[in-house]
Amino acid sequence: MKKEIPFNDLYAHYQSMKQEINGAIQDVLEKTSFVRGPHVEEFEVNYAELMQSEHCVSCANGTDSLYIAMKALGVQEGQEVLAPAHSWISTTETITQAGAKVVFCDTEADVFTIDPAEIRAKITDKTVGIIPVHLYGQAANMTEIMEIAKEHSLWVLEDCAQAHLATHKGQQVGTFGDVASFSFYPGKNLGAMGDAGAATTNIKKLADQMAKFARHGGLVKGIHEIEGINSRLDGLQAAILNVKLKYLAGWTQERQRIAARYTELLSGIDGLECPTIAEGNEHVWHLYVVRTDRRDELAAYLKEQNVQTSINYPIALPFLQAYERLGHKHEDFPNAYRNQSQILSLPIYPEMPDEFVVRVCDEICNFYATTKTK
Ligand SMILES: *Cc1c(COP(=O)(O)O)cnc(C)c1O
Repeated sequence: MKKEIPFNDLYAHYQSMKQEINGAIQDVLEKTSFVRGPHVEEFEVNYAELMQSEHCVSCANGTDSLYIAMKALGVQEGQEVLAPAHSWISTTETITQAGAKVVFCDTEADVFTIDPAEIRAKITDKTVGIIPVHLYGQAANMTEIMEIAKEHSLWVLEDCAQAHLATHKGQQVGTFGDVASFSFYPGKNLGAMGDAGAATTNIKKLADQMAKFARHGGLVKGIHEIEGINSRLDGLQAAILNVKLKYLAGWTQERQRIAARYTELLSGIDGLECPTIAEGNEHVWHLYVVRTDRRDELAAYLKEQNVQTSINYPIALPFLQAYERLGHKHEDFPNAYRNQSQILSLPIYPEMPDEFVVRVCDEICNFYATTKTK
């Protein structure tokens, strides 16, 4: 059996900063600051600064940050929220949980983010907001999206779960809309060692409302202005994130190096399409996603060669059983529908050695050289 090439390597990631992480964990234990506390407060200040936002409200996970943001925006029953047809389900299940109706928009043909033309087409008098997702680490077309939002007085909630530090025309994602949500799930570009999330905003009222809602409806002990939820960041995760923040820019460069190498070694293969970077974007490569008509065959071949791959995501949101009630047909979202059977995510993580990248590409070349289209 050939040496395994993992999709991600969280063990190598931990080893690269083991002493610091262990020290940070020890500090939380000694201070018994398990839920919120000084490490969480420090993280919120640090993260707001890194994301170039005035306020950061931390919470239990990225899904909650979307929900909390929508509750603070005042989302209500009868309202409609626009979201891309291809994303992780958190983006849209939280719209429903906040009480509004999910309205799907197809993604663009060449990139995997929400199509501004679809946004225009789906706006009704019930539409209140847009959730662009910077999928795989590349910004959606925020220039056009912000123009549309302004024209129609819609709020914009950026789902930045996969795109920490990505930019569009030199501006960092998360700073375009009213509010941005982030996930620190362990495999994300900035990951905790458990679940964690945050929302950032420049609007103080929104930040206060989000903090209140996430903490049982009140920030002062014994006072509950509204009913809220319990979604707090714990001290261990905050201390770990505080260690990791300073490395994020370097890890992003490593991801960019690997992505460039993939594109260099894979472009020119007939039948395989490397990812496109839209003009003006700096991609942070949470995932490196190729497209091919022979996706399932290629994935099976790579598995035989002991190369792990992933499909993100194999069923576009409108076609999931969870959204059966909306009665969508494949032709309603032609790009998302085509992509779901063509996309394949290749291994990418900051510690990935170049020899692994080369081997993945060699295996892919071998696949196209030695197998025939069925
Ligand atoms: C990971 C992710 C989320 C949710 O984050 P969790 O921390 O896992 O709850 C939301 N949106 C997108 C696009 C994601 O990839």
